[in-house]
Amino acid sequence: MPHFAAGVIRFQNDVFPQKKALFEKLSKGQSPEALFVTCSDSRIETAMITQTDPGELFICRNAGNIVPPHMTHTGGMTASIEFAVAALNVPHIVICGHTECGAMKGAMHPEGLDSLPHVKEWLGYTKAAVEVVDALSPDGDAEERMNLLLEQNVVLQLQHLKTHPSVAARIAKGELKLHGWVYDIKTGAVNAYDEDTKKFVPVDQQYADEVAKLAGTSGCAA
Ligand SMILES: [Zn+2]
Repeated sequence: MPHFAAGVIRFQNDVFPQKKALFEKLSKGQSPEALFVTCSDSRIETAMITQTDPGELFICRNAGNIVPPHMTHTGGMTASIEFAVAALNVPHIVICGHTECGAMKGAMHPEGLDSLPHVKEWLGYTKAAVEVVDALSPDGDAEERMNLLLEQNVVLQLQHLKTHPSVAARIAKGELKLHGWVYDIKTGAVNAYDEDTKKFVPVDQQYADEVAKLAGTSGCAA
């Protein structure tokens, strides 16, 4: 039996009974806090990184955490974004890239993708980010250029998000906030894009005001 099938049996026997009330509530509907777009990479565990329960994140995953710009023809990402934003009314969208991303390595070296024609075409949606890296760091070493690409890809996909009509409309009404993150697999660090400075900063720094407010609230309660 595969490890993951044995896991289902353990889930049913050991985990589900402890969270029965949560699953009962979730059977009646969902109201997730965010649309979370990240890479399909097996090393990213969204619930663990964000410490969220089922029902809290509406998740879309693909190679390279890419959001194609809005087009007139329908794709899986387009439909999922529309549903999350216009039907579920999520108040947040997160695009989360990560270190050691195979898709971004492919984007940086598309000459190695001749046997993967669909991957090669899909990564065309991050071509502008590669161009930005070439412009900003033409002589940087491989690690520096890759770290910059991980960030610039997130920034580019945030721009693509804004071309989706449902997203544009709810941003215009002040009902939707976009977040760009890069997760470091080796260290657990998460850096967030600061739109004002155009830089990525540690997540506790980016959300320092909210963290302080939370600390203040719990202080009052105690
Ligand atoms: Zn990846």
